[in-house]
Amino acid sequence: MVDLHTHTYESDGTDSPSGLIEKAFATGLKTIAITDHDTFRAHAEAGVRAAELGIRLVRGVEISTKARGRSVHLLAYWFNAPPVDAFEVWLEEMLKYRRERNRRLAERLRGLGIPIELAEAEALGRTITGRVHFAKVLIAKGYAKSISEAFNKYIGEDAPGFVTMEDPQTPVAVLKVRECGGVPVLAHPVRLGMKDPEVEEAFVREQVEAGLLGLEVMHSDHNDAARSRYRAMAKRYGLAYSGGSDFHGDIKPQIRLGSGLDGNVQVPVEWVDRLSSL
Ligand code: AMP
Ligand code: FE
Ligand code: FE
Ligand code: ZN
Repeated sequence: MVDLHTHTYESDGTDSPSGLIEKAFATGLKTIAITDHDTFRAHAEAGVRAAELGIRLVRGVEISTKARGRSVHLLAYWFNAPPVDAFEVWLEEMLKYRRERNRRLAERLRGLGIPIELAEAEALGRTITGRVHFAKVLIAKGYAKSISEAFNKYIGEDAPGFVTMEDPQTPVAVLKVRECGGVPVLAHPVRLGMKDPEVEEAFVREQVEAGLLGLEVMHSDHNDAARSRYRAMAKRYGLAYSGGSDFHGDIKPQIRLGSGLDGNVQVPVEWVDRLSSL
């Protein structure tokens, strides 16, 4: 079993790096990629535990980018060699944008009449503070009953408290990953929310022209129809297939490590072989 999309508490998951590797071992995973948002921080500790337990840990990261005014998540993997230093410098820059976004997010929520300080959300995060941490503060203050309610009512992309991050354009990020020796994979394409299949396909084509190498065909949010559609699309553009659960631990308990939502993620090891050879 393989899972190429997971988060630890270094971003917005709830498991420690070692804890996640132990869960992977208990689940029977042979290969796991940790793809925290904007940071590799989990990899040092996770790498030690993975070596002890005989699990292959793939270096990965999930980057927030922007295209056509929407948020687009890009996964990047280093299967064989670590990223060049320039990439980590670039990630530091992303963290700066994120901090600035978080400051404005707290401000916007106060504008909506919610007494909230940036420090309250930051206290729940480690390397990065994300909207999930803001959602937890909103729950603690009684403004929402669940993470998803907090997103729908306040901080989701179409909610009144949403503020944008100064994210790089998707093709710029794709190129950056390539320049730094990584394999860029478009994450959970279904979340692009592009209803018109021609628009969606044109968007993917643009990313291929920029250097995209893979498409996340299997993901917890992908039903059978989405899976077939993206598999066919990947094939048309010569993209490698990728897949993962997008495990976040206790904040999304219905999503299982290695198998996604009700077993809708089953990544064949051949997919990893192909991605590793790029
Ligand atoms: P950020 O990078 O801080 O803008 O936060 C993005 C993260 O928030 C995503 O990776 C998800 O983990 C989480 N997220 C986004 N939308 C939702 C939603 N509607 N419900 C629950 N979690 C969400
Ligand atoms: Fe997340
Ligand atoms: Fe994502
Ligand atoms: Zn993710």
